Amino acid sequence: MKYLYLSIVALFLLNSCKTSQVASVAEAPKKMMPDHADIIHKEVTQRGIKSHIQFLASDALRGRNTGSEGLEAAAAYIAANFDAAGVGEVNNTHFQSIPFVTFTPPAEASLSIGDIDLTFRDDFIAINGKAADFSAPSVDIGYGNPSDIEGKDLNKKIAVSIAGDGVSKNPRDWVAASRDKRKRAQAAGASALVEIYQSTALPWSFLRRIGTRPQTTFDEGMEQNDLVNIWVGTTDSLTIATLQEGKQPLTIKMDEVARDRFTSDNVMGLIEGTDPALKDEYIVYTAHYDHVGIQTPDETGDDIYNGARDNAVGVTAVLSLANYFAAHPPKRSAMFVLFTAEEKGLLGSKYFTEHLPVPANQIKYNFNIDNGGYNDTSIISVIGLTRTEAELDIQKACNKIGLTAIEDPAKEQGLFDRSDNVNFAVLGIPAPTFSLGFRAFDEEIFKYYHRPGDQVETLDMDYIEKYVKAYILSSIHIDGRQEAPFWLEGDKYYDSGVKLYGKK
Ligand SMILES: [Zn+2]
Repeated sequence: MKYLYLSIVALFLLNSCKTSQVASVAEAPKKMMPDHADIIHKEVTQRGIKSHIQFLASDALRGRNTGSEGLEAAAAYIAANFDAAGVGEVNNTHFQSIPFVTFTPPAEASLSIGDIDLTFRDDFIAINGKAADFSAPSVDIGYGNPSDIEGKDLNKKIAVSIAGDGVSKNPRDWVAASRDKRKRAQAAGASALVEIYQSTALPWSFLRRIGTRPQTTFDEGMEQNDLVNIWVGTTDSLTIATLQEGKQPLTIKMDEVARDRFTSDNVMGLIEGTDPALKDEYIVYTAHYDHVGIQTPDETGDDIYNGARDNAVGVTAVLSLANYFAAHPPKRSAMFVLFTAEEKGLLGSKYFTEHLPVPANQIKYNFNIDNGGYNDTSIISVIGLTRTEAELDIQKACNKIGLTAIEDPAKEQGLFDRSDNVNFAVLGIPAPTFSLGFRAFDEEIFKYYHRPGDQVETLDMDYIEKYVKAYILSSIHIDGRQEAPFWLEGDKYYDSGVKLYGKK
């Protein structure tokens, strides 16, 4: 109530200023463009920013794990804030519901061929399947692409394949390749799929950890999730050769696995553009709102991973922008999307970009937010700052708020391709990520990155306030351009962009 009262007073004051302006003949002609920085400073308050973060990163939301009640509460909160601000729905809803399944690997499993016994987790993991105890001959299917499988008799046999599709070197893509391969193997009547994992990009020790944890993926129906799928990580060449030869049957044993099916939502909002010529163009403002839930306690015994930096701050910035645009509408249509399941492998944004509510070529830009943490409160780190034509727009906005924008300082981390923006980029849509200021991925970052201490009490709120304001002003600058900013020539995604928008 107090808040409303203050707004009424502010409105009254604003009105009386206008009246006196009109009355004064000596007054200079009114400026056409409102000074958005001024308005932002008046309307966007630290108290408002902090209250969003406080709720989203509260212990009550239990770390916002995908599929948890805590994340559902966060979704309801975001939608309620859209409604309160007058931000519209997308196709009559704020929610894009996504079917998920969480696969909990077996407690024990064994795999043997001839007199070679592989050790569960050290040598192999189960990434899919059901309780099993059988022996069957194996058939080498190369990479398991359609042409590799054609003409091979896989009926009641174990398909042995190399992990990946033979094209992408990125093990993250291999998981998706695995899904497709599973479908093909199953359609051909195979009783299991065994993939040989060979990559130095993502060491086996990492895969081994994954193999012991529940894994969340898209739910594509029971039959798709049933086939036993094993990844073998041994480097022993005799074992690998024996597996590929197919001269001896393989024996697979696997304990019962658990499968939990559920839905989780992307939360969406829309404000129509005011420029008749540009309102069919969309800029999509995004941040993921999920985090990693409850995990191993830290030294204080705290086991709730609150995710204030990652990414309650980002959600707050997008909500604050939506709120601002509701009062001061943009030229282009503004869509706001808060993604679920980013921490499960960018799944929410993957689903969104595969089920877009408007044609992809009408989405001219994606201005994403994701955060690991910060170690320099004088800067904003924009992952992809120098890769699109918006560099100057963002830089000027940050300067106006008293900050400097810098390009990704930790290229070795591959951050551009590790957040939700990449799912837009692969379609050709220019998509940088606006992050809290960091100069390197150092101790200061790791102190809070995916740790229970990433909570609101450890935030420098003066800096967070500037960060949010800089995001709003940058968005206004980007929206204000005559032509939406495109990729710079030579960028890895430039050609996809040319194709998407039919540029010359
Ligand atoms: Zn994040």
